[in-house]
Amino acid sequence: MEQENNLNFKYYNYKQDLFKEIISQQPAVYIFDNYNDLKEALKHYQPKPLSQQSQFFSIKEFKERLFSSDQILLKEEKLPLILYSVLNAEEKKELRLDSYQDIYQFSARFFGYFKLLQDYQLSEIKGLADWQQHRVNRLLSIKKRYQQRLKELGYTDQLALKENKNLNLQFLKEFKQINLFNIVDFTPYFKKTLQQMSSEFEINLHLQLKKEDFNEKKLEIESLTLPEKTTKIEIRKAKSKLKSLAAFLEEKESFKTELQLIDAADEVESAEILSDQLKINPYQSLKETEIYQLLNSIYNLYQKGKKSSKILIELKELYNLSTQSLFKKWLEITVEDLQKIEDLLRNDYYYLDYNLIVSELPVLKPLYELLENIRKIKTISELIELITEISDFALEAEAKETAEKFNDSLLELKSIEEMGVVKSWQDYYSDRGAGLLSLLLNHLKFKSISLAVNDEAAEFFSLENAPQIKREKLLLNNLTQENFVHKNDGLYFLTEKQLKNNGLKLNHKKQLLKKYKFLRHILTAEKSIIFTVENEDENISPAVILEELILEYDLDYNQCKLNMLNEKEILNNLFNYQTEVELEVNHKADFNKNLKIEADDFGSSFNFSYYKYKYLKDCYHRFYLEELARLDTTLEIKPSLSLRALGILTHEIFGELIIYARDQKIDPAEISAENRKNIIKKNIKANKLKIDREYLNYYQKVIFNSLENSFIHFTELLQKYLPDDYQNILIEWPEWDYQRQKYFSNQQIDFYLSGRIDLLLLSQSEYFIIDFKTGSGDHKQLDFYSLMLRQNYKKKLPSESRKAIYNVFEQAFEHSYNKVEKEDSLGQELQELIKLLLAAGEYDRIYKSRCQRCPYKDICRVEVLNNEEGN
Ligand code: SF4
Repeated sequence: MEQENNLNFKYYNYKQDLFKEIISQQPAVYIFDNYNDLKEALKHYQPKPLSQQSQFFSIKEFKERLFSSDQILLKEEKLPLILYSVLNAEEKKELRLDSYQDIYQFSARFFGYFKLLQDYQLSEIKGLADWQQHRVNRLLSIKKRYQQRLKELGYTDQLALKENKNLNLQFLKEFKQINLFNIVDFTPYFKKTLQQMSSEFEINLHLQLKKEDFNEKKLEIESLTLPEKTTKIEIRKAKSKLKSLAAFLEEKESFKTELQLIDAADEVESAEILSDQLKINPYQSLKETEIYQLLNSIYNLYQKGKKSSKILIELKELYNLSTQSLFKKWLEITVEDLQKIEDLLRNDYYYLDYNLIVSELPVLKPLYELLENIRKIKTISELIELITEISDFALEAEAKETAEKFNDSLLELKSIEEMGVVKSWQDYYSDRGAGLLSLLLNHLKFKSISLAVNDEAAEFFSLENAPQIKREKLLLNNLTQENFVHKNDGLYFLTEKQLKNNGLKLNHKKQLLKKYKFLRHILTAEKSIIFTVENEDENISPAVILEELILEYDLDYNQCKLNMLNEKEILNNLFNYQTEVELEVNHKADFNKNLKIEADDFGSSFNFSYYKYKYLKDCYHRFYLEELARLDTTLEIKPSLSLRALGILTHEIFGELIIYARDQKIDPAEISAENRKNIIKKNIKANKLKIDREYLNYYQKVIFNSLENSFIHFTELLQKYLPDDYQNILIEWPEWDYQRQKYFSNQQIDFYLSGRIDLLLLSQSEYFIIDFKTGSGDHKQLDFYSLMLRQNYKKKLPSESRKAIYNVFEQAFEHSYNKVEKEDSLGQELQELIKLLLAAGEYDRIYKSRCQRCPYKDICRVEVLNNEEGN
């Protein structure tokens, strides 16, 4: 039998201003659905001086205040900590909780399940399958131990307070009247509580609803009747989400005052674009602050480099971190240091160890020490001591409220140990330092600070948050069916059907609430424009509620004007869309024309490597940008298995093996297996900072074998070419300080040929150039090397020559049979290219298909020139 309510119901239409009509000077309690309403309501409150003041609560806060006891109430992080402490090994295994970090999802489900039973006054869920019953039994058994543990510690939580019916109305004792504004979401437990309270208080429910739509016994909306139409409603339909968004923003621009915006999507796309023009959320999670970002990056850095016995710093992660200004300020990192980090990455280093930090980047020493200290941490107090070293500095620049919230959070965490909630962290984390740091980060994530609000900004609401204020004009974006239906099916392991069979029509209820809030949004505004999308290909359709509005109010869809434009035009016109490749160039405009040659572009002498020759031949402009202006494209962090690093490693190993044989005066094929293996192993080890640890095993096993086998095969192929005198085996010729001969001059600039030959074999009758390659090779490069050798070798060279690429992983020679004439014509071509360039006086840009792959195309913009010529 439904118990009769002793509550008063007052119904209003959507045009009435509830705050104006209800909030009086008499002391009373006012309760609101959300915090925004509470703030708005306060504006209408003008208390008599020196009289008793009214109290304002959000419904969430009010419910929490209703139950209390003498015991300390545990909240937030302390609850999952206790929950974790009562789980046995078998449960942890079944729940796949490897460490405390994995508890959060289970914890939410655990407390959610019992809150559901409590809110809906159910002793159990009926009709469960065996596996579900097993889960419920497990939850019940854990709950028993959890509550026992709470009791032993002498604390309580919200669940226990409500179970024990610790209703405490002390905080309301000075009031007679309680007013609830548009609160329609009641659970049986809350309903019962209100009924209980109604013997002491006059409780008024103020509802902007039709009386027939609300079931006063059950305290539930049963249906929603659309009222007479008194406001203007327009619905505009676009063909894509982008067009809808663009139309929404365009409308916003044309109407500046008293405008309110809503986006029905979960991810508010327009928010990103409009950012400071909107009052979106006056609260910011501590997660958004610089100090959090810094700590989080330090945590990631620690996690990435902790597996080895000594701490390593992953360069990729460090590179990302070095873009944070707080990090740079903390360590006083200079541009040169950043350059160093980039250089190391370019040279294929993957990690930094302590020695490399000392020699290359001593500025990072405090970071290294911090990471080492994290490893030693055993308690929260130790963590806080360590963190304070950075946070004291970092919080200097933050707002006072952020600093206070941050320090309060540290104290709250500290209280976990002080209150004896956790005795030893060993049971919670295998790596206590990392674990406790993640605990701190998680804790900070849920703390928020209020932000200064731009008064000029437009109010921005979510669909869920229907405020009780009158507005002139409302724009609502993205009202598609996908965004309007309530998506949650069932609850954890319970299906929607099972919930329904147990009397819990949660989905139906949530859908009605959503519809109610939507109606409140549009019916409290003088004019609403709703933007929606219809696109069959992408399976997007307008929300069904719109059909209802169209039928009831005799409306129609208006097509968005922007449907005429294509998406690219919209992007260009509205968003000034950024498609440019990120180039570290300050004056991009300076490079989108043919540049004049300056006197000192080449200096008085210039070294031509094979690649510089290639770029020169390819495009003068690119040659200038890449080789003379040395414009770097943004450093692209390479995939974990760097082919360049592998190439360097291979060269080092082959080089060292051959030098070893030469020093021992033996044929490289005669190197003992043991020595060969040692040399390979040593080189892999020496390069370990360049190898992602995930791949180290791969290098040690697979690459090791491939290189060894390839070297053995190579020595067999080599045997017939080996000179009699091993001193005629030259590796990496010429040495770095070798005095080269000028190749040609032009306009007083001397040009030299540069390059290094991997292996050079000299015999009486011929010289043999061998280039080791781990990827594809270029025979022309061998011609270039031969030309360079003939130009620079100080003694007489044999007349015949041989050239080959040894493809290390294919274990084969690729011989080149180009004659000397071909090599000389390459040299002639180089001279000709320079002659033409210097005579023209500028670096020409010519649009060709290769421009599509050019990293400089966005600053060169040669295609614009091309288009202009074409017009
Ligand atoms: S875009 Fe084309 S013309 Fe411009 S620098 Fe690159 S390759 Fe040269």
